[in-house]
Amino acid sequence: MKEIILKLIILQSLDDKIKLWQRTASEGPSKLTQARQKLTELEAQLADLTSKLTENRKRRRELENEIADLSARRTTNQSRQLRARNNDEYRAILKEAETINNMLTTREDELLLHMDSGEKMDVQLADLSAEHKAEEALFQDRVKVIEAILKDGQENEAIAVKERGELITTIQPDILSRYMTVARNRDGQAMSPVKDGQCQGCQLSIPPQLFNELQRSDKLMVCPNCARIMYWTRDPYFREFLGEPEAEPVPEKPENRRGRKPKAKVSEEAATDEPTANDNHAFEGAEDQGDTPGAAL
Ligand SMILES: [Zn+2]
Repeated sequence: MKEIILKLIILQSLDDKIKLWQRTASEGPSKLTQARQKLTELEAQLADLTSKLTENRKRRRELENEIADLSARRTTNQSRQLRARNNDEYRAILKEAETINNMLTTREDELLLHMDSGEKMDVQLADLSAEHKAEEALFQDRVKVIEAILKDGQENEAIAVKERGELITTIQPDILSRYMTVARNRDGQAMSPVKDGQCQGCQLSIPPQLFNELQRSDKLMVCPNCARIMYWTRDPYFREFLGEPEAEPVPEKPENRRGRKPKAKVSEEAATDEPTANDNHAFEGAEDQGDTPGAAL
């Protein structure tokens, strides 16, 4: 029976890995979008600034043309002042000169403002372009990392799937079917390690008599609360696979007692390479196996 339980423990670890890599693959597109986020923002800012600068230059050209026209009109006006035949005509020409001068002043002021803001925008554009270029290089690096993780994931998933296929041919159909049923009902977590008399699947302490029975590891037992298939992590038969220490540790500090999750303890004998835990850091949450203690209560 211990051999069967160990096979189920290994099956669970393979299923955990497959699930992990499938999740990683499904997150690939959103990770790429996330990695591109800043670049996308910078592109929008660049487009906006370029459009404002184009508008600024267009307006400056308009103003320069208007100023040239008005200056020509002023020259004409000045020569007409000299040729005025009477006072009325002279006053009318002076009035026109005043209008022309006012318009010139307004246009020249506006042109100065546009030249000033245009210069500032030129500086901004240069800065933004440099930032964009740097961000583009960073983005390309990020893409390489993400693609490497995805490729790694595909390969590891394929290995785990193959090993799973081989393993299940060695498990009796009724036991496999029992495992599959629990896994379906418990978000893929059919197996639950029991530590210090506590089911790690639902965190419930199991009755002492049941715990005594479990320690014999001579039959399949399910948690009375979450119905997962339980196993005693200290059983010498599973210990090596689980990476458990030989003796019950003396409970010094709470964090020492709680220990690691069994899925993180899969030894080399467990099929694939350990799903390169470091790689998962790029995909935050990817290594969270979705243990939902108590959720199934
Ligand atoms: Zn339980």
